[in-house]
Amino acid sequence: MPLTLPQIRRNCAIARTRMQDARNQRWAFGAFNLDDEATLKAVTKAALKLQAPVLVEVSQGEVDDIGLYNIRDLVDNFKAEYGIEIYINLDHSPSVEAAKKGIEAGFEFIHIDISQANHDASDEEIIRATKEVVDYARLTGASVESEPHYFGGGSSLFKQDIDYEEIKKTFSTPESAKHFVTSTGIDTFAAAVGNLHGKYPVPKILDLDLLKSIREAINCNISLHGGSDTPGHYFREAVKIGVTKININSDMRFAYRRTLDKVLAENPDEISVSKLISKSVIDAVSAVVESKLLDFNSAHRMIKI
Ligand SMILES: [Zn+2]
Repeated sequence: MPLTLPQIRRNCAIARTRMQDARNQRWAFGAFNLDDEATLKAVTKAALKLQAPVLVEVSQGEVDDIGLYNIRDLVDNFKAEYGIEIYINLDHSPSVEAAKKGIEAGFEFIHIDISQANHDASDEEIIRATKEVVDYARLTGASVESEPHYFGGGSSLFKQDIDYEEIKKTFSTPESAKHFVTSTGIDTFAAAVGNLHGKYPVPKILDLDLLKSIREAINCNISLHGGSDTPGHYFREAVKIGVTKININSDMRFAYRRTLDKVLAENPDEISVSKLISKSVIDAVSAVVESKLLDFNSAHRMIKI
């Protein structure tokens, strides 16, 4: 059943307050990509065990695959059944129209990413489209996240090392962050300080001094995308600096795939793959989520909603 507008507005108002709590208390929401029901079970299991509030998120691929309202219902059913504090983020929404649909479906967080869908989009186009989503989000009170330019990588396994000299060219600067936040009115700024989508042969390096100067330059929430394969100490520091949302996808997918490969090889006669997923894959993905929640300092922060 779709949520009513008053229900959606209530959820969004709580989510906003909780982002502020996270900022005041120096912890971050883990935003975990939801590929299927097994991933949601894994996130729920970790959230329950650590009593941590969580975000789950879907990008356009998952929206096309599962459906916006199915996702909302699935998460709401888990929320009711397990009593967890959980919100939904529309991740890397490629267009104003797609973002508006997420707002209407009652997602509490909307990430509008015009530059990823069109790498050649001008600054003016990106600002105009982002602002349109910010204005539309007033309907429900959803929080809007964005960034001023294309952010590298992709949620997959990369064989090549990270070329930091190339990546540095795409780093956020305090000035550009301030200009973008002021021009668009977004609630959350997606900072690029060495974080990168995907898994690489070498660990990632975050520029924490740059992150501090961005934190000082703007007064909205800050998120970090591309959190997989980042040594935990960077997250613990980033949270102290004031980051309140950290996205994790590839580390979960990696655990999912490797564990599934292993149990399939070990059980060639088991034709119920879902049984193998329930028995082993969910635990492996949940262990990844747990370790991140600890790094994000969000354990024991859950409230009843
Ligand atoms: Zn991302």
